[in-house]
Amino acid sequence: MEQDHTNSKKCSAAGKCGGCQFQEIPYARQLKKKQKQEEQLLGKFGHVQPIIGMEQPYFYRNKVHSAFGRDRKGNIISGPYQAGTHKIVPVEECLIEDRKCQEIIRTIRGMLRSFKIKTYDEDTDYGLLRHVMVRRGFRSGEIMVILVLRSPILPSKNNFVKALREKHPEITTVVLNVNDRRTSMVLGEQEKTLYGPGFIRDTLCGCSFRISARSFYQVNPVQTEILYDTAIRLAGLTGKETVVDAYCGIGTISLIAAKQAKKVIGVELNRDAVRDARINARENKIGNVEFRQGDAGEFMNACAAAGEKADVVFMDPPRTGSDERFLSSLVALSPETIVYISCGPESLARDLQYLTKKSYAVKTIQPVEMFPFTEHTETIVLLKHRK
Ligand code: SAH
Repeated sequence: MEQDHTNSKKCSAAGKCGGCQFQEIPYARQLKKKQKQEEQLLGKFGHVQPIIGMEQPYFYRNKVHSAFGRDRKGNIISGPYQAGTHKIVPVEECLIEDRKCQEIIRTIRGMLRSFKIKTYDEDTDYGLLRHVMVRRGFRSGEIMVILVLRSPILPSKNNFVKALREKHPEITTVVLNVNDRRTSMVLGEQEKTLYGPGFIRDTLCGCSFRISARSFYQVNPVQTEILYDTAIRLAGLTGKETVVDAYCGIGTISLIAAKQAKKVIGVELNRDAVRDARINARENKIGNVEFRQGDAGEFMNACAAAGEKADVVFMDPPRTGSDERFLSSLVALSPETIVYISCGPESLARDLQYLTKKSYAVKTIQPVEMFPFTEHTETIVLLKHRK
């Protein structure tokens, strides 16, 4: 087997856990594989720049999720699901997740028996604790613990939080989330803050962001700064532009770009994220940005119908990509510059096919590594209007 000093660590759950499809492959080779994949999917649109990799590809995930249950002997176990199943793979140490977050999950596992908290069983719909999610601000060190329960009552909740914080004083907030549905979604709709403000803060590219339990936040903070810096540089902002940030989450790209633009409008579906984004704008004292809650396609459609103008559109949709309504309205709005940020190269290729058939030309394709050891690759594509 090929030796590579950057990949000497071995995971005990490799092959069972659904997380790291590339766990057995040395890191340098993972990057080559991703580069090749990008070239195969996107090469027909232009030259694919070399992927921007990580120097330290371990323990990068700032959001850690474990499902809770029991093994055949009745021991409490926690970990990710086996790929394509709801079978929990007990993992002692994951090589890509933040260590402190993992430590907190192990502590919680150890506390359940003495607090008489039962783990939830999907087959019988009996029990209480379904999942634990821990999110950590990379710069701030603030930590959020989310306990996902089958029903809203956690017995001795104050003592539980107190005991947990005695072991981990670095926890700044604890949120109880209720998920009473038979679903693959981890988080439910209902939420109650048990301790602290109910959100954490973090800093990226010189702006500070508050992040609520259900708001999206990029999981690899080191690479996120590279991703955002590259995307904003490619947009070529001069201070005069009207910018749309579609699928804006908590407003990260909006706020960072606003410093170099005339005006930014962010649009996002998730209500909690929009609330975070508005507060983030206020707290960073950025006045030339506003946020709209709703479907990005609907928003673009309304803008195009009203004859509004935008010079630059950032778009960062979920892995499934954008939709026809968004793309057709985007073409109608005809911004000079589009910066497409994608975590799904297949859907990206599909959407680029649409845009290049209409009035856009691909100028730059820049892959950025956001997910070492997994098969996923992030890509930034710069498109310009063909005059
Ligand atoms: N640009 C942000 C968020 C990217 S993730 C960042 O870098 O942090 C994609 C975001 O799209 C999520 O916040 C999700 O809630 C949002 N989203 C999903 N479908 C949407 C839709 N139809 N319209 C608007 N936003 C949507």
